[in-house]
Amino acid sequence: MFKFLSKLFDTNKKELKKLRVLVEKINNLSSQVQKYKLTEFKQKTTELKKRLAKGETLDSLMPEAFALAREAADRTINLRPFDEQLMAAICFHEGKIAEQKTGEGKTLSAVPALYLNALTQKSCHLVTVNDYLARRDAGWNGPVFNLLGVSVGVIIHEKAFIFDPDFTDDSVDDLKLKHLKEVSRQDAYKADITYGTNNEFGFDYLKDNMVQSLDQMAQRGHYFAIVDEVDSILIDEARTPLIISAPDTEPTQKYYQFSALVASLSKDMDYESDEKHKTVNLTEHGIKKIEKKLGVENLYEKDFETIHHLEQALKAREHFQRDKDYVVKDDEVIIVDEFTGRLMFGRRFSEGLHQAIEAKENVTIKQESKTLATISFQNYFRMYEKLAGMTGTAATEAEEFKKIYNLETVVIPTHMLMIRKDFPDMVYKTTRAKYAAIVAEINERHAKGQPILIGTTSIEKNQIIDEFLKRKKIPHQILNAKNHEKEASIIAQAGSVGVVTVATNMAGRGVDIVLGGDPSGHKDKKAWQKAHNEVVKFGGLHVIGVERHESRRIDNQLRGRSGRQGDPGSSRFYVSLEDDIMRIFGGEQISRLMTTLKMPEDVPLEHPMVSKAIEQAQVKVESFYFDSRKNLVEYDDVMNKQREIIYKKRKQIIEEENLKEKMIGLVNKEVDDLVVKNTNPVTRELDTENLAKDLVLIIPFDPDSQKRIQKQLEKQPEDLKQIVAKTYEQRETQLTPSLMRQVEKLMMLNTIDHLWIDHLDAIDDLREGIGLRGYGQRDPLVEYKGEAFTMFERLVKTIDFEVARRIFRVQVMEQPRPQPMTQAQETKPDLPKPSAPITPTSAFASAFAKAGQNSPARREPVGTNPPSPEASEGRKRKLGRNDPCWCGKIDANGKPVKWKKCHYPQQAQ
Ligand code: ADP
Ligand code: MG
Repeated sequence: MFKFLSKLFDTNKKELKKLRVLVEKINNLSSQVQKYKLTEFKQKTTELKKRLAKGETLDSLMPEAFALAREAADRTINLRPFDEQLMAAICFHEGKIAEQKTGEGKTLSAVPALYLNALTQKSCHLVTVNDYLARRDAGWNGPVFNLLGVSVGVIIHEKAFIFDPDFTDDSVDDLKLKHLKEVSRQDAYKADITYGTNNEFGFDYLKDNMVQSLDQMAQRGHYFAIVDEVDSILIDEARTPLIISAPDTEPTQKYYQFSALVASLSKDMDYESDEKHKTVNLTEHGIKKIEKKLGVENLYEKDFETIHHLEQALKAREHFQRDKDYVVKDDEVIIVDEFTGRLMFGRRFSEGLHQAIEAKENVTIKQESKTLATISFQNYFRMYEKLAGMTGTAATEAEEFKKIYNLETVVIPTHMLMIRKDFPDMVYKTTRAKYAAIVAEINERHAKGQPILIGTTSIEKNQIIDEFLKRKKIPHQILNAKNHEKEASIIAQAGSVGVVTVATNMAGRGVDIVLGGDPSGHKDKKAWQKAHNEVVKFGGLHVIGVERHESRRIDNQLRGRSGRQGDPGSSRFYVSLEDDIMRIFGGEQISRLMTTLKMPEDVPLEHPMVSKAIEQAQVKVESFYFDSRKNLVEYDDVMNKQREIIYKKRKQIIEEENLKEKMIGLVNKEVDDLVVKNTNPVTRELDTENLAKDLVLIIPFDPDSQKRIQKQLEKQPEDLKQIVAKTYEQRETQLTPSLMRQVEKLMMLNTIDHLWIDHLDAIDDLREGIGLRGYGQRDPLVEYKGEAFTMFERLVKTIDFEVARRIFRVQVMEQPRPQPMTQAQETKPDLPKPSAPITPTSAFASAFAKAGQNSPARREPVGTNPPSPEASEGRKRKLGRNDPCWCGKIDANGKPVKWKKCHYPQQAQ
């Protein structure tokens, strides 16, 4: 790790040298671009585009484009990018991460790189951590791009905008957001440059792969992305994938039951708990106890499902703490990000854990949901042809960026000398003594008038500090990373005289803290200057960290809020031997210290062993998480490749005008397989009777036709292809060709979607179960890859088979609402009049109908229940328990799965 850093330092020096040469080139063009009239900028853009089309490269156009963008910024928003900002911009263009300290002006640094790459007319995205920042940054830079003749879109949760200087939104006060005009999502993506959050980009991608036709797609490719706060997105959020899901019909009562049941179990006797890995395991004793209570025998042999739920209920109890890991609000359990304390609205723990926590907190249980689509941020961002990142803290994670994303990190020097003073940690034996010391320091500095920012790791800790400050009667602001826009305006004032701000790490992130307060809020420039000078005299902003974070990078983020652009400032962390990180990762050393150090609580410890232990603990946590993320990526790769293949297949179908040839080809292939199956390998004799029977699996001939075909095959087996073609033509005549084309397309999509969703579940189960097979010296990852590959092969085969058989069976509904696909048993399907409209029968169609009007496609119910057989009662025969399930699922033998074993509603237990 340290070796990597010192190597980074050397390569960095060389890298900076190269960058300076390029910046010189840009600087040499300054006098030329300064002569341009305002009206000329657009023309210059057109010229650059033309030259690009004629064969010049982006690299060769870079100096001119950058000089132009710099001049445009100077003329429009009165900010002239510094040389350091251009250096960062070159890094972005080269697909690298530039580390620029907080307050160095990353928002502006992105402009030249975005402008240059937008000349390609391919999609350029700027990714922010929240909706507020997406709008703010687009609003900030909008005038620059506008002068250059480049359009800017913004996508946020449920809304999309385009920057339009002639439009003014009177409903917003924030100047930066005033010129954003609401447009469709497609239009925001059509803009040359699109700003948005990681979540929105990711979800839009997933949704685009669930549509029924091209015009429903929002995105137009993935060419270039600059990810702001790249460490937060690619590292901190890497372990939580994006999931679009629909509710399933599971009884909820059982969660409450299990929650009550586990409350009666005792630790160590009935179950073992591992705090580090957040796992629990029932012991023999515990299982016996449960079996008795439930009145069942042999739980382990019969009922894995129940054991899984019981263990989740235990986990909820043991390892998930209210106001630390989650909060309860409005009858909902909301996840708190473990690194940043940010509330993760809409995200849910998977595999029934969220429900278990809901049961524990006695709130309404949201039904288990079915995953319709999922992707991790790693995999989403790896799709871009060129990926770049900006952040104040990348160097400590340079190795991970290199190894996992193949991203180089360049550390850009600050424009002004950084003069913040980072004091050594204050270490106490107990938490109580630590808080007392924190409050004492706040009190002392506050009395002088110095602004103080206190950074905590959780909402819970915010509340503790809040209590202490109230007792001391120190006025203060608390930020929990709940409302980004409101918190932005508070944190912007965190540098004002005498202001005390308590915030979780993520709260108000990306917002500049100017000493003396936000100048744009001051009408009286003189008064602001006076306040500014005063704060400078007090020593600038003082940052207090109430504990060390799980990585040094997050510590650095917090410190970085002070000392911007050469400002004075200081920072200090407080540590107690009782802190989580010390307890869990501190190891033996710490517990020994606890007993051997016999000094009073309120004296800070200054043993060299202590500072070493802290550092070691952090390094241990960092590498622990690095390994777990690396492991995750390796597992994810498997699924990622499969998703790529399926999504590509889908896209080809959507893009194809006429799928008839393909369809007939597929049917013939399946029929050929049946011929092979029914041919005696030795005598080469064809079993025509059985073949005719098997044929019904694909083409639903009635018994009479079946016999007729058998006879025909006995005489002329080569007629089979004609029989297929003829039946297909009949079907087409019944439906009309144009309807048939739609049926082909929608049915193919539907089949892929249904089977893919089931596959997602199956792979999930596999991944969960593979750990159990880890014994016998087999590598679980290898096992997983092998098994997943086999399952995928089977999926692809099943899709082809299902498509071939469904084309003759799918019904066209008269009512324009989503309907389940039904299988006519041994009879010919009842076809409607040719003029009847077809309805999209995709598994996603119903989810979308609703998702469009109300909801994010988060891990929360996005749609209606899957169409149930009851919905179509009256027009169709009611399904029997032993009938094939309406969802059209078939088992590995190609037989339909029975409804009772599939989507049959379970009785509440
Ligand atoms: P970062 O994202 O790096 O923390 P921001 O993009 O939020 O920084 O910018 C911080 C502040 O610096 C903003 O107030 C911005 O207006 C200012 N700023 C950025 N670039 C320049 C520049 N070239 N000259 C003057 N001020 C600048
Ligand atoms: Mg920023």
